[in-house]
Amino acid sequence: VDKSSSRLTIAIQKSGRLSKESIGLLQACGFKFSLHEARLLAHSSNQPVDLLRVRDDDIPGLIMDGVVDLGLVGENVLEEARLERVATNLPSEFERLRALDFGQCRLSIAVPKEDDYNGIADLNSKRIATTYPYLLQSYLQRQGVKASNAVLTGSVEVAPRAGLADAVCDLVSTGATLEANGLVEKDIIFRSQAQLIQRPEPLSAVKQAIVDQLLPRIDGVQMARE
Ligand code: ATP
Ligand code: ZN
Repeated sequence: VDKSSSRLTIAIQKSGRLSKESIGLLQACGFKFSLHEARLLAHSSNQPVDLLRVRDDDIPGLIMDGVVDLGLVGENVLEEARLERVATNLPSEFERLRALDFGQCRLSIAVPKEDDYNGIADLNSKRIATTYPYLLQSYLQRQGVKASNAVLTGSVEVAPRAGLADAVCDLVSTGATLEANGLVEKDIIFRSQAQLIQRPEPLSAVKQAIVDQLLPRIDGVQMARE
């Protein structure tokens, strides 16, 4: 990515739960894109705007390192990355422009349904499987609970049955996945929705003008579908 470019670069999830709505929102705001499945970069045909299509986990770092101008990402992924970067002394600043009306989910503690569970203190000295070790530990610390992590990037919900952990801390929207794995949701530790974020360094005047035009359009689109 050419940082001196006058084209505004927006990072979105390439394929996943946020992709369709991210592109849909930008299109509803008047940006025209033709997307080619294999391509990382998509140029807008009617605005000096480029879409960078990446894994959602990469978006916070691209913003905090100033590699891209704007990003659309779940608050869960954003806050996890921020906590990790704070802990490892990497740049962790960004600007939050808008909360978006999609990507709603929650990060919850769940335990096997046959377990007797009377609250988070029951997880003292237990092991919890998660993809979000920093969000989990930050919650446990606030609750005064000491538990260890089993960090998995996928299949978190099978960890208790596989004997890897006593509980899980996983994203939930309907609860169907938990139920299918014999788990019961107990504590909501973080509520999330998609966010529009900007890199910390000020934008060039040309880019700022595009953002100034984009924000009221986002407000209009979101208001209309409330
Ligand atoms: P990638 O390949 O980009 O890393 P992923 O598998 O990590 O994709 P998805 O499952 O597509 O991610 O979810 C992306 C984001 O969508 C989540 O981080 C969260 O913010 C949001 N989301 C909304 N509903 C759910 C849900 N039911 N389960 C998981 N994530 C959800
Ligand atoms: Zn991801």
